[in-house]
Amino acid sequence: MPEGDTIHKLANYLGPRLEDQQILSAGGARADVARRLNGRHIEGVSARGKHLFIELDNATALRSHLGMHGSWHRYARDEEWQRPQSQASIVLRIADDDYVCFNAKEVELVRLSSVRNRVVNERLGPDLIGDEVDAIALARRAREFLDPEALLIDVLLDQRVASGIGNVYKSEVLFIERLPPDKMLGEVSDEKLAACFSLASDLLRKNLGGGMRVTRFENDSAGSVWVYGRTGQPCLECDTPIRSLRMGKNHRGTFWCPACQSARDHD
Ligand SMILES: [Zn+2]
Repeated sequence: MPEGDTIHKLANYLGPRLEDQQILSAGGARADVARRLNGRHIEGVSARGKHLFIELDNATALRSHLGMHGSWHRYARDEEWQRPQSQASIVLRIADDDYVCFNAKEVELVRLSSVRNRVVNERLGPDLIGDEVDAIALARRAREFLDPEALLIDVLLDQRVASGIGNVYKSEVLFIERLPPDKMLGEVSDEKLAACFSLASDLLRKNLGGGMRVTRFENDSAGSVWVYGRTGQPCLECDTPIRSLRMGKNHRGTFWCPACQSARDHD
């Protein structure tokens, strides 16, 4: 699943290439959407949580959500595509290139004034990268949307609460805050939860520059992340082997140190 910072990086990449350009033609499996893109001018590209918005000159925007398997590719006119044409949800022909959105989870044309506001206000929590983050308000928002029995791993991934956290940051934030992965929303204070959101926001912003994703900023060669993807390897704090399990609502890989993140010593 693309993390929020991935979508921001994508927007940063596409922005300068697409802004002020005309869509010469549009195609792809989503012909219903493509048909309405022909000939439009692009005014800007922006990211909000995991959603990419390509804003058009008629106060609408092409919203794409990549889900687990989607991606945007850029190809020169005669270049061979890396995926079959049948997987192209949307193809935008712009200048000498084709911009192809493969396997999008969602693609739709939204009205910038009303529909996008609805999308932003009702479906998506504040963006941890782009917005001013009021972490305590996010903690309260989490309790509005989710039951006390909800696992923190699901709370952090819930884009209605706050948008931007993906599966990597989920595990990393819980490690840094020393929270076990089976901790429930009802078991943590607003302050502790707010600390998780502030940390996630901080990490997402530090990773906007590109390159390898870093959540561990130690001056050694031991690794750029604490637990993610490190099953069986020694914890970088205490040498205990890192564990992993598919857990939570969507059975996503979750990584933790059973010693550092034991249930004992936190609120
Ligand atoms: Zn440890």
